[in-house]
Amino acid sequence: MRYPPVSFLRQNNVLVIRSFVFLFLSCITTRTNLCFSSISSSLKTLPLDGHFDFDKIHLAARDFGNRYQFLPVAVLHPKSVPDIATTIKHIWQMGPLSELTVAARGHGHSLQGQSQAHRGVVINMESLPCPDIQVYPGKSPYVDVSGGELWINILHESLKYGLAPKSWTDYLHLTVGGTLSNAGISGQAFRHGPQISNVHQLEVVTGKGEVIICTENQNSDLFHGVLGGLGQFGIITRARVLLEPAPEMVKWIRVLYADFATFTKDQETLISAEKTFDYIEGFVIINRTGLLNNWRSSFNPQDPVQASQFNSDGRTLFCLELAKYFHLSETDVVNQEIESLLSQLSYIKSTLFLSEVTYVEFLDRVHVSEVLDMISAIKVETCQTDILFVIGTLVILHAFHFYQVQVKDSFNWKQES
Ligand SMILES: Cc1cc2nc3c(=O)[nH]c(=O)nc-3n(C[C@H](O)[C@H](O)[C@H](O)COP(=O)(O)OP(=O)(O)OC[C@H]3O[C@@H](n4cnc5c(N)ncnc54)[C@H](O)[C@@H]3O)c2cc1C
Repeated sequence: MRYPPVSFLRQNNVLVIRSFVFLFLSCITTRTNLCFSSISSSLKTLPLDGHFDFDKIHLAARDFGNRYQFLPVAVLHPKSVPDIATTIKHIWQMGPLSELTVAARGHGHSLQGQSQAHRGVVINMESLPCPDIQVYPGKSPYVDVSGGELWINILHESLKYGLAPKSWTDYLHLTVGGTLSNAGISGQAFRHGPQISNVHQLEVVTGKGEVIICTENQNSDLFHGVLGGLGQFGIITRARVLLEPAPEMVKWIRVLYADFATFTKDQETLISAEKTFDYIEGFVIINRTGLLNNWRSSFNPQDPVQASQFNSDGRTLFCLELAKYFHLSETDVVNQEIESLLSQLSYIKSTLFLSEVTYVEFLDRVHVSEVLDMISAIKVETCQTDILFVIGTLVILHAFHFYQVQVKDSFNWKQES
């Protein structure tokens, strides 16, 4: 009996394995495609006021951090709370085998893909039309807002009643649901707590698609789970946020320290004092002489001569940022209070920067500097384009000149020869 040669057998084996792998991969791809198409078609059957987008899904796979890009299967643009409830209920009923995940997306300012859902459904909370921002003035004022509302809009609306939320983030172009899912911290937190401590009631769509009202006393597990819950315990569709009388103006102060221990000691003194600033925050400045120069132009140094002589020399500095709220009629009293508070501190004396701004200007300060940065980036770009244009023109002129010289030389050479 003749046996096929070993090399032939080996070749056949390889062929069989290759075909098997190919078939296996095709099956997976087909199954995945079938899976996606069946998910898409099942989502399409849902009776919604809003709609699903299956094509324009790329924005939902991006965030401020720009480090992770997970594409979802679909983006829901809800036009009502029942849209969110219906969708989540549907996904819940599909069971765990569908492996569909859901993520609420506020303003997409998280850094590590928290508002993304890999092959899942992203709910674009900013599409949720807030009936309106409803301010309730009175003895204990509050405002009812949609989970997709930006804090900057809440500020403007509540100011119409002379009121404003008590606790903020440094940056206000973030959504209510987005910051309440984290904590929402800024320089007012030492007095009022973070934003999650200044909410009285939430409307939440749970993982089963139920719409539930929760407070400290009613469905309190859900209330405390959702606040700071990183979007894992339900979707905040409405929040009741506490308000306080808003000031007109703000004395905005920055002082610098070279020594960390002195910096934290002063910070702690101010935070624990009974009569103190309304906002206390601190940050580290690493080798940013340019930043200090910027401050010199936008803040008024108390001693301009000394301040202009101050040089950071690339040192690491610690900045204590303080704010005192006031009404114009109280200017003199506030000035005295500030003087007395500052006299207890041990900052580098020539580095006292002071500015007087409206309350809105103060709260929206990060956005203003963001816009200014964008403008200067455009200017630099335009400037770079101009420089490139000039360099380009010079290169072309030079090349033309070189060409002329060459032609002339070759002409001369020809004539000579
Ligand atoms: C420039 C900048 C400045 C910042 N400053 C501060 C600051 O001063 N203080 C501070 O505390 N934080 C600050 N942050 C962090 C910021 O508060 C969080 O990243 C916040 O989550 C962003 O809100 P967002 O609306 O963009 O939410 P997204 O990034 O869209 O979502 C963030 C998380 O919340 C979930 N989520 C969103 N909406 C809902 C909802 N309605 N219900 C349930 N879950 C939801 C998402 O699924 C995700 O897990 C800053 C971020 C940036 C980029």
